[in-house]
Amino acid sequence: MIPKEKIDELRERVSIVQVVSDYLPLKKKGANYFGLCPFHSEKTPSFSVNESKKIFYCFGCHETGSAITFVMKKDGVEFPEAVRTLASRFGVVIKEERPRAAGYKDSLYNLNGVARDFFARELKTTSAALARGYLKKRGFDDWPLLKSFSIGFAPDGWDGLVRHLKKRGLSVELAEKAGLVAKKSKGYYDRFRSRIIFPIMDIKGRVIGFGGRSLGASEPKYLNTPETALFKKGETLFGLHQARESLKETGYAIIVEGYFDLMAMHRHGFTNTVATLGTAMTAAHLRSLKGYTNSVYALFDADDAGRKASLRSLEFFLDEDMRCGIISLGTAKDPDEFLSSNGPGAMREAVKGVEPLLKFYLDEVGKGFDLKSPEGKARYLEEALACIMKIKNVAERDHYAGYVAAAAQIPVSSVYEAVKKKSAGRKRADGGVRGAGIFRGLAALKGSALAEFTILKVWSTTPDFTTRTWRRPSRRLRTRALKRLEGRYAPASQAAVLTYQRSQRIFRVKKLQAAPRPGYSGMMPVL
Ligand SMILES: [Zn+2]
Repeated sequence: MIPKEKIDELRERVSIVQVVSDYLPLKKKGANYFGLCPFHSEKTPSFSVNESKKIFYCFGCHETGSAITFVMKKDGVEFPEAVRTLASRFGVVIKEERPRAAGYKDSLYNLNGVARDFFARELKTTSAALARGYLKKRGFDDWPLLKSFSIGFAPDGWDGLVRHLKKRGLSVELAEKAGLVAKKSKGYYDRFRSRIIFPIMDIKGRVIGFGGRSLGASEPKYLNTPETALFKKGETLFGLHQARESLKETGYAIIVEGYFDLMAMHRHGFTNTVATLGTAMTAAHLRSLKGYTNSVYALFDADDAGRKASLRSLEFFLDEDMRCGIISLGTAKDPDEFLSSNGPGAMREAVKGVEPLLKFYLDEVGKGFDLKSPEGKARYLEEALACIMKIKNVAERDHYAGYVAAAAQIPVSSVYEAVKKKSAGRKRADGGVRGAGIFRGLAALKGSALAEFTILKVWSTTPDFTTRTWRRPSRRLRTRALKRLEGRYAPASQAAVLTYQRSQRIFRVKKLQAAPRPGYSGMMPVL
């Protein structure tokens, strides 16, 4: 238990501006500070922080609270853990009434930090000669660079780290939860062995996981920390901590796909580069860049798979209202190879030649149809419109309407007309719809889309539902909605659960005139 007067003392001493600044850049405007809201998608800052009142408030989504609630929401932790984190930061000494272990996540961060230092020291020992040789061969013998990424080495053998942790009196059971060690019948053993280690940090520089490159022929070539309470592979960008200042300075991020590509870019001065962990880009990746930049240049491998992956990510960019450019590296296999054979000058030229992903996408769509025939034109227009409609910026949307018109050799007025028609249809579909009409299109929804719709329906029939809770449902309400969902459509699919977490971003609610009657659902999902 944290004594109440300590919580009061913390509330008194905490600087909410400092706390929020750890997560997003703020600018002073009058008595308030403003930044891009981390809780909803936006382009102009409507998220305000007031130091004297010690609160934040978003004029867009009306999210509000104190420094403590901010940390709870952003770190996904409970009240006591948020209080402890802030207390240690602002020098409030908490002697708990009943002794209690530090937060679970804190102990995982701590273990990861100890492991990072262990691996870094190992890289300097004689047993790591092979690893150093390998790094040197690939051009990475620059110690300041290796140090800034805390590159390390996991020794061959089965229990180097296990013994190290035990010697320090740390829990090996917890190390398993951190993904550092694994268990077999005889006991625990090191997960990473005979590998070059890349510590993966969050934006604040705390180690959340590791990547390991095997030295010999042992498979897999790259091994990552499994999913833990801290590490989510599909949401994590490697190098974000090191790149954060440069992102703000240059105004864009370059995204590559692997550890060595990233290191090569940083070595040659492209310090605004981040890397996915060998996965395609996700909406979560983009959101983690928000506040630092809205422009992302993808520097994917020139092969077909890389290009297809970038095309698939277009949707996320449109949803998040972020810009994506494609940098073409010609025939080079990857950025690392391109840099070593052509040098940084050629890379700077390639970056200058960046082209919007949207244009790439529309060209790709165009290839699928015979643009000389009337029905080819019609089908191309149909498909291209689906994408153009999602562009939030009007000027940009007009630009691409013109582009599509030129490609299909039709008057641009026809494209505008089609856009207008479509958006009018959409308005009818998601606002002011009555009766059975709202279920139009429901039959066409499948899988996760259907699950999303179902959750909306359940929410709207939940007794303590109001328009306000609709926009910002409380955790209790969401849990109840999910429980009902499980009861009626058991079991709730993984997709449904994921979607429930994302749903406030996916759905817009318009024209909710009155509190809905049971069974009534006055909205359609905007898909
Ligand atoms: Zn907001």
